[in-house]
Amino acid sequence: MTTFSDLGLAESLLRALRLQNYTIPTPIQAQSIPILMEGADLLGIAQTGTGKTAAFALPILHRLQANRVFAAPRCAQVLVLAPTRELAAQIAESFRNYGKYMGASVACIVGGVSFGPQIKAMARGVDVLVATPGRLLDHMQSGHVKLDQTTYVVLDEADHMLDLGFVLPVRKIMSKAPKTRQTLLFSATMPKEIASLAEEFLNKPQRVSVTPVATTAERVEQRVILCDAGAKGAILAEMLASPDFARTIVFTRTKRGADRVSKSLDAAGISSVAIHGNKSQGQRQNALDAFKNGRARVLVATDIAARGIDVSGVSHVVNFELPDVPESYVHRIGRTARAGKEGEAISLVENAERPLLRAIERLTRQEIPAQDKRSDAERDRVGPPPGARQNRRGGRPQSHGGHASQGGKPAHGAGAGAGARKPGGGAQPARDGQAQKRRFRSSSPRHAGAGA
Ligand code: AMP
Repeated sequence: MTTFSDLGLAESLLRALRLQNYTIPTPIQAQSIPILMEGADLLGIAQTGTGKTAAFALPILHRLQANRVFAAPRCAQVLVLAPTRELAAQIAESFRNYGKYMGASVACIVGGVSFGPQIKAMARGVDVLVATPGRLLDHMQSGHVKLDQTTYVVLDEADHMLDLGFVLPVRKIMSKAPKTRQTLLFSATMPKEIASLAEEFLNKPQRVSVTPVATTAERVEQRVILCDAGAKGAILAEMLASPDFARTIVFTRTKRGADRVSKSLDAAGISSVAIHGNKSQGQRQNALDAFKNGRARVLVATDIAARGIDVSGVSHVVNFELPDVPESYVHRIGRTARAGKEGEAISLVENAERPLLRAIERLTRQEIPAQDKRSDAERDRVGPPPGARQNRRGGRPQSHGGHASQGGKPAHGAGAGAGARKPGGGAQPARDGQAQKRRFRSSSPRHAGAGA
């Protein structure tokens, strides 16, 4: 079996990999790394969760180290474009982790935060810049970022970028990158538009392809519980009363949500700790220690806070709320079933979250078995399920109440997804999980807008 050292990676990278406990390359890594170390362009068909970040980050860092030069002010040697802030942050973190022993400098430029620190981060030039297209273009137009010295470009999740309408910004950005560059494009799917983008940006690319992400989480048994928004707390407490839930991570979308769930578990006599961005480093560490040594049976976390946490023996992951970004689902459930163990992931899904569920099922190319625990009142209130004629025509509004109460932020894509449904079908309301599941599939628009 191939190991990372067989691939001829620099010692500083191998050391960083040892720290991450990676020994065996994933299939996308084993295929891509040799090609990229040779300097060829690459077209990769792979989803998040397959290890594709290291598949491109490691050979790029290796080549940077082999020919160590430093970028001029406002320049970056490597540009990675990603569709979402979350993915960009994650990729930047991976580059920092892998490049720590070679002193690689990494900047991350995304929308929704102030420009000042990003301008500062780029002022002296960096080795690696990870960015979302819109904000990067703003910085390029104001002259704070230049691509004159960018010799590596990675377009990650190209199909997702297309969905989000980033084609024009991406074209503009690519037109400013030097022609003599190594270009990589990764996409989970290969529709015609991606094939023509690849033609436009890549030069005689080598092609690699790996099986979908779902196979990486084979040992995680997944299920969905359809329920009323207000019933989630009780369902969670009831589940956690079982000793089978020996070590459980509960995910919420918001910091306040995490605190609220943790408090209500404590009130129900279930020991829990919460971690999120508002906690100090010390509080985070104490919470993690309590969870690791078993003093707390439950860890309640937001996606950002849970990133990078590696706790072994997690028996269950419960999604108290589905994530806005479907890739986060894969990361969440990957917290269980580590190191060859079995694990179970359960998602509590209220009506307003269905578009998010569809986006997850589409990404992971699977149907997650669903159990319907909604109250009769909720079924009556919601009316026929998403596939039925009445809702598709917008006859009865979908509820977003559950999300609106969590910091006032509506579920990402929930409204867009409901509105985007096409007329047709006319399924009868059914209450069993199987029928429910089928309806989710049949009414799926191609792009529900999650993550948009
Ligand atoms: P990615 O598809 O890049 O988001 O990676 C999915 C997950 O797999 C991340 O949590 C990585 O840290 C992890 N990972 C990547 N490569 C390896 C490897 N060779 N061995 C073990 N874990 C890995």
